[in-house]
Amino acid sequence: MAEKAVIGVTGLAVMGRNLARNFARRGHTVAVHNRTFAKTKALVEEFGDEGTFLPAESAEQFVASLERPRRLVIMVKAGAPTDAVIDEFAPLLEPGDMIVDGGNAHFADTRRREAALRERGLHFVGTGISGGEEGALNGPSIMPGGSKESYAALGPLLESIAAVVDGTPCAAHIGPDGAGHFVKMVHNGIEYADMQLIAEAYDLLRNAAGLEPAEIAEVFRSWNTGRLDSYLIEITADLLAHTDAKTGRPFVDVILDQAEQKGTGRWTVQTALDLGTPVSGIAEAVFARSVSGHADLRAAGRTLPGPGRSAKADLSPDDVEKALYASKIIAYAQGFNQIQAGSQEYGWGIDLGTTATIWRGGCIIRAKFLDRIRAAYEADPGTPTLLTDDHFAEAIGEAQDAWRNIVATSARLGVPTPGFSSALAYYDALRAERLPAALTQAQRDFFGAHTYRRVDRDGVFHTRWEAGR
Ligand code: NAP
Repeated sequence: MAEKAVIGVTGLAVMGRNLARNFARRGHTVAVHNRTFAKTKALVEEFGDEGTFLPAESAEQFVASLERPRRLVIMVKAGAPTDAVIDEFAPLLEPGDMIVDGGNAHFADTRRREAALRERGLHFVGTGISGGEEGALNGPSIMPGGSKESYAALGPLLESIAAVVDGTPCAAHIGPDGAGHFVKMVHNGIEYADMQLIAEAYDLLRNAAGLEPAEIAEVFRSWNTGRLDSYLIEITADLLAHTDAKTGRPFVDVILDQAEQKGTGRWTVQTALDLGTPVSGIAEAVFARSVSGHADLRAAGRTLPGPGRSAKADLSPDDVEKALYASKIIAYAQGFNQIQAGSQEYGWGIDLGTTATIWRGGCIIRAKFLDRIRAAYEADPGTPTLLTDDHFAEAIGEAQDAWRNIVATSARLGVPTPGFSSALAYYDALRAERLPAALTQAQRDFFGAHTYRRVDRDGVFHTRWEAGR
């Protein structure tokens, strides 16, 4: 009997090809398939000696080469192509087989696909995979949704190819149907926020403190040996130290300052709005990219009055580090609250500590910091916010003066810090004994009879404002 594969990957662009190689390198026999056979052929020709690949030219051949229950990973362009591939393969599968979607699908699509395939007796496992092409090859962070039963059959395979931190694989069952893709979406949203905060720290060091990129690279390098130790800080140091070979200028200065986006940050914010969860750090990051991309607005705005870029302040890198750390805590606390809210809304039962654990390696936001978050949720799984965790509360308390000073200085000098500033505003809103929301409620009742509640009596009230005027 011909050898069968324990898993198959269809869609062999950068991600699928590297994921297939990762399975093969771990000793798993992998069936490989791509719409255009040339990519399948190229994979086997180039990397055939890394393990056992079973190349398939047709969908039928691909399905026939998988052992039962079949485990079929789809790594194609998210959206309509994913539906097209599901429609192609589902009729060829039998009850109990599993389709794993490792693309960046919207969790609502995953819920729809899971429900439809469940009706046909198939498992659909929407799986977040983070770490880019390098992660896919050497160990990504893997966030599978779907049924517990499917995880029992898939989990060991996924855990065998995931990144490992302190002996623990960065892969775990997240929860039913769309839970995995939801968590991956928020991961990307947090990634946006983290990148924005790092960009603001750089901007302050450059334009307020007056340091050169090479000097800032050294500052980031030193931060990377402390509590900010993370992949993003590490690559930022490398990028800032890099010089453009053609012009000899700092590399960061030859890049057009218009940040692009593929959409997962936007989905995170849209979903947060639906759930009513404040994720101001992620929203500011998405909007900051959007502002940067509006060349027309920026051209018009350049003539507006304000402090010139030559104004400098006596900012210490230590203070910027404190503001960055405090703002980062806020952004992550908000992101984890969004996961908590999604889990409640959809009944997913997501373990937040586990989520932090599998983000410690393999993914873009991998950092020492996530160990702290894991510990915080272990100590108090039901905490309404990470901010009250002893470690985080103490860190913010200690950073506070510097953080406020940085935000005030950036406003005075006209250096935009939407991430730092909104994080501080969120923090102060949570601390406030009373918020001006009372006035907002009064206004709503005045113009729309929307009613209000009182501090001294139960019930819902409406005042006949016209009568009292
Ligand atoms: P991609 O550029 O998003 O997609 C290309 C692949 O999709 C090719 O294999 C292509 O086949 C296939 N495809 C497109 N339309 C198809 C259709 N209608 N029917 C069948 N196959 C179709 O590839 P990628 O960058 O490797 O990403 C794969 C998935 O992983 C995406 O969902 C992406 O969002 C997600 N992801 C990517 C990254 C990353 O860093 N790139 C990270 C995490 C997740 P042909 O060769 O025949 O054109």
